[in-house]
Amino acid sequence: MTLANQRLDVPVTIDESLCIEGCTLCVDICPLDSLAISDETGKAYMHVDECWYCGPCADRCPADAVTVNIPYLLR
Ligand code: SF4
Ligand code: SF4
Repeated sequence: MTLANQRLDVPVTIDESLCIEGCTLCVDICPLDSLAISDETGKAYMHVDECWYCGPCADRCPADAVTVNIPYLLR
């Protein structure tokens, strides 16, 4: 399992300026537990670099803060 840190090329990116503090919807819905809430910022981020590109994290986000960066070959 690879830790994702704050890289830009992770499968899912979250716009922290849009993410609503206290919300955990995307974290709760991810089947891989790849998303987490940062202790520092209170915002969601991808903490494990694993993703099925299934999409509910982006679909369910009320703030439209989640972007699933689907690889070209899977589109
Ligand atoms: S696309 Fe699916 S697997 Fe990837 S972070 Fe979102 S919910 Fe999790
Ligand atoms: S669903 Fe959206 S607003 Fe809620 S924690 Fe995830 S990124 Fe933030």
